[in-house]
Amino acid sequence: MICDNISINAAGHLCFAGVDTIELANKYGTPLYLLDENKIREKCRIYQGAMKSAFGEDALPLYAGKALCIKDIYRIMREEGMGIDVVSSGEIFTAVRGGFPMERAYFHGNNKTDADISYAMDNGVGYFVCDNEEELLAIEREATARNIKQKILIRVAPGIDPHTHKAISTGSVDSKFGAAIETEQAMTLVMLAIGQPHVSLEGIHCHVGSQIFETQPFTDAARIMVDFAANVRDRLNFTFREINIGGGMGVPYLEEHPRIDYAANIEEIGKAMRACCEAHGFPMPRVRMEPGRSIVADAGMTLYTVGTLKSIPGFRNYVSVDGGMPDNPRYALYQSPYTVVMADRMNDECDTVCTVAGRCCESGDLIQEGVALPYPQRGNIIAVLTTGAYNYAMASNYNRLPRPAMVRLCDGEDTLILRRETFEDLIRNEL
Ligand SMILES: *Cc1c(COP(=O)(O)O)cnc(C)c1O
Repeated sequence: MICDNISINAAGHLCFAGVDTIELANKYGTPLYLLDENKIREKCRIYQGAMKSAFGEDALPLYAGKALCIKDIYRIMREEGMGIDVVSSGEIFTAVRGGFPMERAYFHGNNKTDADISYAMDNGVGYFVCDNEEELLAIEREATARNIKQKILIRVAPGIDPHTHKAISTGSVDSKFGAAIETEQAMTLVMLAIGQPHVSLEGIHCHVGSQIFETQPFTDAARIMVDFAANVRDRLNFTFREINIGGGMGVPYLEEHPRIDYAANIEEIGKAMRACCEAHGFPMPRVRMEPGRSIVADAGMTLYTVGTLKSIPGFRNYVSVDGGMPDNPRYALYQSPYTVVMADRMNDECDTVCTVAGRCCESGDLIQEGVALPYPQRGNIIAVLTTGAYNYAMASNYNRLPRPAMVRLCDGEDTLILRRETFEDLIRNEL
């Protein structure tokens, strides 16, 4: 199996975090999201340990909340001593309600409204990652009105094109995010920031993309960031104390995907950064990384019930489930691969190649194509693995489907942490 929190029991049922998924499907209904708390903690500890060893004791991983933003996650992140990144007032609200200490929060986004800036300051968000000139001036205005000094980083575009889907590649010069180093816009923004009395410029941030399997985009980013920092020091006599190289490390969704040794990767990035700092005589900065997907993806799983099998002779078999693009839009958006299994018949022969379809009125509402399953029957339970990241976070009520429930698994115990939406929830904002 693609992750060590998955097994098969004597009944031939799929188990997740040691719990029989069929019992969970019977108890809570489907579609159902599952979340393995210990897997999340294990990943946090890998990042914490590896970053402190690679970059020094003041290094800190920030969990990118957009991957899965619910109150309970922020309890885990607080207990694990993580920082977080937030991208909206709604995420700030959720983290605050989850009890997260907001001085360890970094506020991202390419269009923070005046209301967002004010809300973030009301809630004591530690750092703003400033995207552009207008935003910088808006932060300065709000900080002046409050007579505070707001810590910021400048988001730069390092000009790296990682080998990933173009919708999740973010670090190239032609990007809606940040100020490009190549075009001197980053330098101009830094100069402007240095001159603002109510912001404290702590350093720079970049994020090259997501679902990246190679180490090189990160070592490249580390070097480019240090080169830029040294250039700023030489030209402006200003030394950054912090460098944030973003998130984006990949996760295996399929058996054939490579397994990333996150600790070894981080060690390598650390070496590249140290070497570059030494070459420039630049002091080793505080380092931040922002993993989202690699913290929560394999801590998640989705269960569905099979409705119908439609075999079209000469074409294919459609097996339809009771969820789809409203709970997981990623195949429709990016043709994302997933491992799909028949959770109640794990020992049966997978002799039927199927397209797993959702129940929405869209031909593109597919969960996955070309999946080998035992011949599906109404009532069978299908599990889609590795759905912890960007699934519930992207869920909608399309076709008026209530969002599924989520159950947390920890040490053999199951706890409902998110109730299934009701029909009343669907109309609750209608006047
Ligand atoms: C999306 C994002 C992340 C997290 O990316 P993952 O691929 O989930 O690790 C981190 N930082 C920023 C700025 C992002 O936009």
